[in-house]
Amino acid sequence: MSYAYETPYSLYLHIPFCRHRCAYCDFNTYTGLSDLQRPYAAALAKEIEQVAGAAGQALAVHTIFFGGGTPSLMAPTDLAVILESVRRHFRLQFDAEITMEANPGTVDGDYLPAVRALGVNRLSFGMQSAVAGELALLEREHDLQAVVQAVQLSRAAGFDNVSLDLIYGLPGQTLASWETSLRAALQMDTEHLSLYCLTIEPGTPMQRWLRQGLIAAPDPDVAADQYALACSLLAELGWQHYEISNWARPGRAGRHNLTYWRNGAYLGLGAGAHGHAGGYRYEVVKQPRVYLRRLANGEGRHFPLSAATAQAHTVSRQEAMTDTMITQLRLLQEGVDLAAFETQFGHSVHEAFDSALSQLVDWELLVEENGRLLLTERGWFLSNQVFYRFVS
Ligand code: SF4
Repeated sequence: MSYAYETPYSLYLHIPFCRHRCAYCDFNTYTGLSDLQRPYAAALAKEIEQVAGAAGQALAVHTIFFGGGTPSLMAPTDLAVILESVRRHFRLQFDAEITMEANPGTVDGDYLPAVRALGVNRLSFGMQSAVAGELALLEREHDLQAVVQAVQLSRAAGFDNVSLDLIYGLPGQTLASWETSLRAALQMDTEHLSLYCLTIEPGTPMQRWLRQGLIAAPDPDVAADQYALACSLLAELGWQHYEISNWARPGRAGRHNLTYWRNGAYLGLGAGAHGHAGGYRYEVVKQPRVYLRRLANGEGRHFPLSAATAQAHTVSRQEAMTDTMITQLRLLQEGVDLAAFETQFGHSVHEAFDSALSQLVDWELLVEENGRLLLTERGWFLSNQVFYRFVS
């Protein structure tokens, strides 16, 4: 089978280590396992080799994303082992975007030049808030000064593509305190901003505090006002709002995440990573020790799976059509290309989603413009309701 139609690929590489677990976090990450970092890098290098080998050809790669967890806890020598495996077994394009998520406070003036020298050319810092009380509520380990310093050190190390993540919709967060965080982020003059609304996930300390009445439930109306404030302030300042939660300076949209939002093919490697390639959606085992064991003992499988794959299913046409709608609609200017959809699936969007579509257009949540289906501005605020209609 040829995978030429999917190339170039994006690679997501998961690093499941953190120093401390933040109160809102339900990601696949572990504390107290720093002794596993070196063997983990070797296992990830092996998984890369297995998946690339299963393709039977050196597949082109145009983006790499080290996500976590806290990838910036990995020693440059361990990151080098992983990147060396990518370069040996894939065809990494010369202008590939290589992003690393990093926590302010985990990087310094030695670390950042070292990872830049390995080819990492984009950093995404978890800032979350500029307000000390909010950072304490989230149980973040850094303060605003650490973020400012991390961005300055990144510039000094030669990074010209830096992103900051912020969270709104926090319990007790006012419109004014949100504006303080947003303006503090803007002062750092980065190329990209991701602004996420807090979801209180099951099993997190924050959910427990909520149940015990120790914190107030976030107010969705305040969160909507906070989002509206961000939309108008960033538009005034010339930022491109290209995805529901993401803004970029012109030409600086995150290329890796664009693959997800275009419902493109990406390989997920590392404990708990998800992938979408070769007609499959799949997930890698979550526990780092199980991951190490699987790769130590197991043989490669057929593309895109590895000895550490936990589960995989082939994507049906119906699922692919739904995925296309709920990923591509996230892109506010691109949306769903109606002609491309029909070419790919042999059905128009109207044939595939007739009643959902007319309802959403009637409610002014979706609009058809120049051969594309787009969320309206009202739809940006209610996107989950829109997506739900395509799933059901
Ligand atoms: S640093 Fe990120 S991945 Fe680690 S615990 Fe905090 S939110 Fe979760």
